Amino acid sequence: MKITDILVKDSFSKEEIVRLLHAEGEERILLFNRSSEVKQKYIGNKVWFRGLIEFSNVCGKDCLYCGIRKGNKNLTRYNLSDDEILHAAKFAFENNYGSLALQSGEIESPAFTKRVTKLLNAIKELSGGRLGITLSVGEQKPEVYKEWFDAGAHRYLLRVESTNRELYSKIHPDNKKHDFQRRLNCLRSLQEIGYQTGTGVMIGLPFQTPEDLAGDLLFMKEFDIDMCGMGPYIEHADTPLISYAGELLPLRERFDLTLKMIAILRIMMKDINIVAATALQAIDPVGREKAVKIGANILMPNITPGRYRDSYKLYDNKPCTDDSAEDCQSCLEARVSLADAEVVYGEWGDSQHYDKRRNRKQ
Ligand code: SAM
Ligand code: SF4
Repeated sequence: MKITDILVKDSFSKEEIVRLLHAEGEERILLFNRSSEVKQKYIGNKVWFRGLIEFSNVCGKDCLYCGIRKGNKNLTRYNLSDDEILHAAKFAFENNYGSLALQSGEIESPAFTKRVTKLLNAIKELSGGRLGITLSVGEQKPEVYKEWFDAGAHRYLLRVESTNRELYSKIHPDNKKHDFQRRLNCLRSLQEIGYQTGTGVMIGLPFQTPEDLAGDLLFMKEFDIDMCGMGPYIEHADTPLISYAGELLPLRERFDLTLKMIAILRIMMKDINIVAATALQAIDPVGREKAVKIGANILMPNITPGRYRDSYKLYDNKPCTDDSAEDCQSCLEARVSLADAEVVYGEWGDSQHYDKRRNRKQ
């Protein structure tokens, strides 16, 4: 199969995706040229910010890869006060970010539901409804998703992590709290409620094959997602998956595979929003900039108050943990201009795909 014959297509078979994931040298450049061209045509040379507030590292789950899993005792747990969260939201608003993203460990409780609703109302109020809000707080009941949607959250990011059920069960404990089918049901209910729905996977997990990754991209297309956030898996010393560290691909290869996944997805789903994940920068200092060049259009500057960042360590060597929100913004702005792209301020930067999907349904 010649790579040039594959790259003229708009949709790919599993075998074709696997072939693209193996592209090296000249072929790799052809792939990235094609994805940049698609991004340029459908999105333009633009990047939108989502100010990221990691508001709590308290989590009720025990995903085997994650540094803030419930079972990790080598960690100080924190929960930002409402004032601290609203202060960060104000920073995003005053700096004309357009949107923010609220992320935390996964807690399912009436008190947590109520708190998030209250925060959403307060953020809408402080910005006169002008700040867009993405939520990423895990699996919840449909009525909870609905309550938050009604309170003003309009995008939701819930990574499926891997669409291969067998692999999913190897990276999660075997119990009802970590059930693959529930994850899919949650994604479906988010979509039905009306959220711009985002998912994604980790790349370079132990046991993961190129065929698995190809299956993940085909799932995203089939599910008709509006947004994607995917990044390299990076090991964390205080997690069970560390015992497979010796079997992983080198970090550089995980990084390169992630860029290829982003490029292929951009060609397959031309008008969705794709995040340049922070984990890319843990491997390459200009990792996110490279992702923007070949297809990503969303960056998430961290605006969590600095003193908490060290405690939201999902993986080892998480970058920027001692920066302030201001540092993060100027650093990202410089990076974006390095990628010959431009930050769009004061706009939500919604997924074009979402609008088209909704119009198709009407
Ligand atoms: N608790 C929510 C959830 O799981 O959906 C949101 C926060 S969770 C920390 C956000 C994402 O971090 C997860 O979806 C997972 O893909 C990613 N993550 C966790 N541990 C990671 C690791 N060791 N390497 C790379 N990404 C990781
Ligand atoms: Fe908790 Fe999310 Fe980490 Fe899983 S990935 S342990 S749900 S924070």
